[in-house]
Amino acid sequence: MKVEDLGYSAFFETNRNKLGLGDFAMARVIAEFKEAYRIKDADGEYPAKITGKRMFEASSREDYPAVGDWVAIAKADDDLAVIHGILPRATVIKRKYGDKVQIIAANVDVAFVVESVDRDYNLNRFERYFAIAQSGGVRPAIVLNKVDLLSREESDERRSQLESRFPGVDILFTSVVQNEGLDELRNYIATGKTYCFLGSSGVGKSSLINKLLGNPPANEAIRTDDISSYSGRGKHVTTGRQMYVLTHGGIVIDNPGMRQVGMGDASGGIDAFFDQITVLAKKCRYVDCTHAHEPGCEVTKAVASGKLDKEKYANYVNLKKEAKYCEMDDVEKRVKDRQFGKFLKKAKEGLKDLGHKDW
Ligand code: GDP
Ligand code: ZN
Repeated sequence: MKVEDLGYSAFFETNRNKLGLGDFAMARVIAEFKEAYRIKDADGEYPAKITGKRMFEASSREDYPAVGDWVAIAKADDDLAVIHGILPRATVIKRKYGDKVQIIAANVDVAFVVESVDRDYNLNRFERYFAIAQSGGVRPAIVLNKVDLLSREESDERRSQLESRFPGVDILFTSVVQNEGLDELRNYIATGKTYCFLGSSGVGKSSLINKLLGNPPANEAIRTDDISSYSGRGKHVTTGRQMYVLTHGGIVIDNPGMRQVGMGDASGGIDAFFDQITVLAKKCRYVDCTHAHEPGCEVTKAVASGKLDKEKYANYVNLKKEAKYCEMDDVEKRVKDRQFGKFLKKAKEGLKDLGHKDW
């Protein structure tokens, strides 16, 4: 195996040199435990710990290695490596709660946003996950799973719905039970690229990953024992996130932790995803237009004329408000809660004027 198969690229090599880490070997973090990591390089896998110095320097959770990170290591002996530094992340999937940031996965190329047809199917949810992905520089793709539960017509209808709502986003239809679309999924996954799976619990993320792994052979199953004998801790301290290199190439990160992901500080990602709205907003009369009820607002004008999807607009307003809220400190939140009540009222009136009944 080459380091490129593990996702190493010119981006990391440039940064490694810039940071003067040329003397260290590079490895990728494939699992994270409370005080230890499991890392992988071209030669194999090792447990690893971070140096006391690094720990001392780390001021926030983001300063610690996360699954998917490239780290500069020195092998203490055959069975243990010491992490001396983290290379800057090309992309990141993170969530924020309070003033804490948690890195879910680093250096992810594509986030599969998984939804299944048997649940309360909701197009807005896609945008929510897209925003999380894009705020960290990760490209989203749609996986609609359990299509075995749909008729041919229903399936075609879902597809055209998704295509018109999310132009430019790749869409894969899969069924784990009927082995449908799994080859497309495998072919979509490129050697040396990293993929994570986002989506609510029960949509079939683990089932899909197990299929991709061809049901994990023993050598890919996590060896928690190595870590516990080393750090004195058992398997209960793992975050549950784990990176796998697929036999046919490509890297997938399994993220049980993504189940409760909120909007975090995805504000930038929201704007990126709603390009159309961002472009329109530039032409609003007021620079700080909230696109609720202001005169000369191009966004509400576009909704009224049917150029902008009403649902999409409503979802934008919602996500924006949620992201803003996450970014504020507590005092601001209290003030905003009051102001926001007023804003929401206005926005609702605006939507009502536009004939949007469901708000
Ligand atoms: P996760 O929580 O997203 O990881 O979802 P799981 O992989 O645990 O799957 C949840 C449930 O959905 C399990 O009972 C699976 O057997 C079932 N499931 C997964 N994929 C499919 C599918 O393609 N079709 C059908 N009908 N059921 C599926
Ligand atoms: Zn506006």
